[in-house]
Amino acid sequence: MEVRRRAPLPPPPGRAVRRITGRQIEGLPLDGFDYASILGQCCELPVGYVQLPVGIAGPLLLDGQRFYVPMATTEGCLVASTNRGCKAIAESGGAVSVVLRDGMTRAPVARLPTARRAAELKAFLEDSVNFNTLSMVFNRSSRFARLQGVQCAMAGRNLYMRFSCCTGDAMGMNMVSKGVQNVLDYLQDDFPDMDVISISGNFCSDKKPAAVNWIEGRGKSVVCEAVIKEDVVKKVLKTNVQSLVELNVIKNLAGSAVAGALGGFNAHASNIVTAIFIATGQDPAQNVESSHCITMLEAVNDGRDLHISVTMPSIEVGTVGGGTQLASQAACLDLLGVKGANRESPGSNARLLATVVAGGVLAGELSLLSALAAGQLVKSHMKYNRSSKDMSKVIS
Ligand code: ADP
Repeated sequence: MEVRRRAPLPPPPGRAVRRITGRQIEGLPLDGFDYASILGQCCELPVGYVQLPVGIAGPLLLDGQRFYVPMATTEGCLVASTNRGCKAIAESGGAVSVVLRDGMTRAPVARLPTARRAAELKAFLEDSVNFNTLSMVFNRSSRFARLQGVQCAMAGRNLYMRFSCCTGDAMGMNMVSKGVQNVLDYLQDDFPDMDVISISGNFCSDKKPAAVNWIEGRGKSVVCEAVIKEDVVKKVLKTNVQSLVELNVIKNLAGSAVAGALGGFNAHASNIVTAIFIATGQDPAQNVESSHCITMLEAVNDGRDLHISVTMPSIEVGTVGGGTQLASQAACLDLLGVKGANRESPGSNARLLATVVAGGVLAGELSLLSALAAGQLVKSHMKYNRSSKDMSKVIS
């Protein structure tokens, strides 16, 4: 007779932590955390939690709204510096942003018997005649997933198919992966000789520096700009327009070119991106591409004022799913007015969050560049909380 085994029931959340660890790690807090909210979703084998301080920069005056920007960081001066940038922006009338594109990508790789056959599949996927059918199959994955297009690349007989879709307020990796799986299953009928090697073939490209994200975008592509008035540059930023423009050319443009940078034409975008990502429950590993940024500075109004912009083609954020539903991260999203799903206009919360990230980066760029131009950076760190040996970490 067949003996049917029942899978053991998961232990109650509180006990699971203790049972798994067997002992508490000294200095790592265990109590006071809602393990039920993470088990089976966000973290396995939990042994406690790491505490991070959250500071607030702002108000960031962006597109006519005031945002108080939560930043989780242990880097001294970062919040203060971003706050100074916010002040300069607000005193100059605010920043303006535009979302150029909103689409998450996933690129499976399949091997075909020959390169010619791979090219046939490429032609099929890229033929506009087939788009309606492909999107019907793809969009079954979720009521929010809407296929935007497929871009293909080949390496010999391997075909990389970069599917792009909007994902509502979710960052969207799960959603797009499910849609891609639907299409791959569908394609097997017409291309039975297609051998799917991996649902991700790295042409996506997730959590790795890659030109495809820099050029084509991934997640939200955002530009944010402001004109900083001459007197604000002088009084708040303690420098002048000409020095800032020159510094930006020599450091962020020429210096990054000398370094062979990929998406790194900025002073420290990743500082702000990562601090906001951690505070708001984003996937911090996606700071790699989300921090791609080119910072441009120009003198305007007969050289008196400063035009500054940040262009960030791949900000990957969501306000539902992942870590966003955890209590403290949800509180930070709520502070920005973008908690959860936007019912009237799905995707608006996530797009608004992306513009806040870009606005925060604009403020951060403005402040750090000013500190460098004025030669103040070391002084300000000494004044706040740093010993000189720590300086290498903050001069980005
Ligand atoms: P991700 O795709 O970012 O990994 P999930 O797989 O958790 O995130 O997908 C988000 C979930 O939230 C889906 O089940 C989706 O149906 C649900 N959802 C509810 N409202 C929205 C919304 N406005 N936008 C996107 N997803 C939403």
